[in-house]
Amino acid sequence: MSVEGIEARILARQMEKEVKGKTIIAYEIQNSEQLQRIGCVSEKSVFEPIVGSKILSVTSRGNTILIKLSNCWNIVLGPEYGGNILLHKSQAKLPKFHFKLDIQNVILTVSLKGIGCIHAVEDKVLKTNYLYTRDFSQILDPLEVDFTFERFNERLRDKKQNIKAALAGKNAVVVGVSNSAFQDIIYRAKINPKRNTGTFTAEEERALFKAITQLVEERLEAGGKNQFVDLYGKPNLYIPKMGPNKKDQTCSTCKSKIEKINYSGGQVCFCQTCQK
Ligand SMILES: [Zn+2]
Repeated sequence: MSVEGIEARILARQMEKEVKGKTIIAYEIQNSEQLQRIGCVSEKSVFEPIVGSKILSVTSRGNTILIKLSNCWNIVLGPEYGGNILLHKSQAKLPKFHFKLDIQNVILTVSLKGIGCIHAVEDKVLKTNYLYTRDFSQILDPLEVDFTFERFNERLRDKKQNIKAALAGKNAVVVGVSNSAFQDIIYRAKINPKRNTGTFTAEEERALFKAITQLVEERLEAGGKNQFVDLYGKPNLYIPKMGPNKKDQTCSTCKSKIEKINYSGGQVCFCQTCQK
């Protein structure tokens, strides 16, 4: 289960509450040789400067979490293809992890379940970090107050691309949306996954924006999607209205059988009757 923008924000808020102002005492990397080889985890020695530094803030944008440190270093975390970031009060019974931070009185462990990122990066080269540059960017973030219909729609109209590319692709008009939120959003907006955004009616443009903002609100309120585990190990409540969980089920609106297709680099579930 991927960690999307909403879940990254929940983790960042919880981390900031627990560790802001505290000093990093030590770190440890385990089971990470393969992840280091493909560039997902920085080499052990790269993290050395973080020891003794103070945590200034923990923020997120898109799927990326940024821990800002007092000595011009940063820890960039992106468990975007799945992973856990967990808080512990003692060293006893720690789960298997790739990266561990010992911070005054608490411990953070990070484990990745797929491709993701655990990097230590100095301020002056932060812009060379792929996830940071992609997500801490000019692209709209549905979790921010400047995410307005006018701004979103202007960008959507400019691009004229397939709706999946527009929401979850490399050239998407928003950050933080992956395949899971994508399926949920277009079901709510009653839009077929194969549509091009250039063909949308004014009503569909409005419905799409509303679907995104409602999803963000409901999923944040519920503490994240189900299968997501927060910083305290608590599983959460939000059940997607559409997604792999609906396979072999019927649409809750029209009772048609939910379709599943391979499309644009992933599986997409949708209702052929409701989504035009
Ligand atoms: Zn339906």
